[in-house]
Amino acid sequence: MRRSRNGSGIMGLVISAIVVGAIGFMGFSSKFERVDPKITLSKTAYWNFKEPINVNVEDASGLKSFTATIVGPHDEWVVVDDVTPSKVTKKSFQILPPKGVRNAEAQSIVLKIEATDNSLWGMFMGNTHKEEVTLIIDQRAPMLSIISSSYKIQKGGSAIVIFKAQDEQMESLKIKTSFGKTFIAQPFYKKGYYASLLAWPVQSETFSATVVARDKAGNETQGSVPLRLKDHLYKVSNIELSDAFLEGKIAELANTYEQTVGVTDRLEQFRIINEKVRADNEKIIHEVTSKVSNTMISDFKPIPFYPLVNGQKVADFGDHRIYSYKGQENVSQAYHMGLDLASVHNGSVIASNGGTVVFAQPNGIYGNLPIIDHGFGLYTLYGHCAELHVQEKDHVVSAQEIAKTGMSGYAMGDHLHFGILVQGIEVRPEEWMDSKWIQDNITSIVDTAKMFIDQQQ
Ligand SMILES: [Zn+2]
Repeated sequence: MRRSRNGSGIMGLVISAIVVGAIGFMGFSSKFERVDPKITLSKTAYWNFKEPINVNVEDASGLKSFTATIVGPHDEWVVVDDVTPSKVTKKSFQILPPKGVRNAEAQSIVLKIEATDNSLWGMFMGNTHKEEVTLIIDQRAPMLSIISSSYKIQKGGSAIVIFKAQDEQMESLKIKTSFGKTFIAQPFYKKGYYASLLAWPVQSETFSATVVARDKAGNETQGSVPLRLKDHLYKVSNIELSDAFLEGKIAELANTYEQTVGVTDRLEQFRIINEKVRADNEKIIHEVTSKVSNTMISDFKPIPFYPLVNGQKVADFGDHRIYSYKGQENVSQAYHMGLDLASVHNGSVIASNGGTVVFAQPNGIYGNLPIIDHGFGLYTLYGHCAELHVQEKDHVVSAQEIAKTGMSGYAMGDHLHFGILVQGIEVRPEEWMDSKWIQDNITSIVDTAKMFIDQQQ
């Protein structure tokens, strides 16, 4: 009796040990993991029956099976029925609409998805993730029509486009270009209308712009902006670097920039300042000037910019400068992205149009630099200032003095580097300084569009 009692006691211990061990093993082993397969869908609300729905399934223990079923108003279709034999941990499926569902004229369908993993959890059945998504069927592309635009655009110059775009489920309105830049349209005047300034970068050989309206189901309508292209020849200057310049200005600047730390060769210092420092400074400028508001703009009537009283032009916008040194050709190059104006020392720098100061601090070769946001994606900047009379976030009014000219940064004499940017792209300041150009290319287009929109109401 004692023996058998002892025996069953030992057996009990052994069994408990096995059970505890098994539970421990099941708990820790990835073979018994309890996490459902992870599913991500490329569409979760709208579908146009054209673009496939991409489904990505993922599971650490591997995937066993995957099914997808589309349920319409009267029928249902199994569109994917997949058994994965190996321990694949990631798989993608493309769901296309079955033929019948197109004829069913459904307003919406339900997509049922079931994915099971290779885990031995749940009596070796694995973990199953089930998901049901209702998708609204939208096969109608957005309505888009271009109402008015500038007649022409000049290389390095600006233009405007105003258009109407409607869709109950609009996702995005963009203006794509031939040079990779996407302009953002701003709501204009009345509901359903949009406008954007456009810019042809001086370094791009050609220009084209297309408005792309896309709804949430992925339907797209495109409309190309009808602009006549006007070439403009920009100056190429060959500049010989002198030792006096390298030992003077460049040595002085190299002491102040972190990009030239540890570099002693004067020519190399010049290269870094002319290329790397310039690129870093312009990156900041482009970031600050790329923003466009999404609030409705009711009008846009800038007056000509006249930033420096009696300012004489000392360098053009768009000059391509190629440098040589002691017989070495092309040691460095750069584009001059503003208009240089000079008058008296410490001349008054004037903001001709009101706006918000979005930047007011030193910026490398640009020196002390205020940048003003005039709205609608139009920005102005004022380089090499001696002192600034504004701070970031200040609102300035037309004709306000914002700074005094000077020679801070990479400047050889007291002057103003005046730059204009449209959504982060430098444009010809001369256009925006010319009242006739503004009237013919911007203001009259805005007025025509508003007249047309009023007639539509
Ligand atoms: Zn300049």
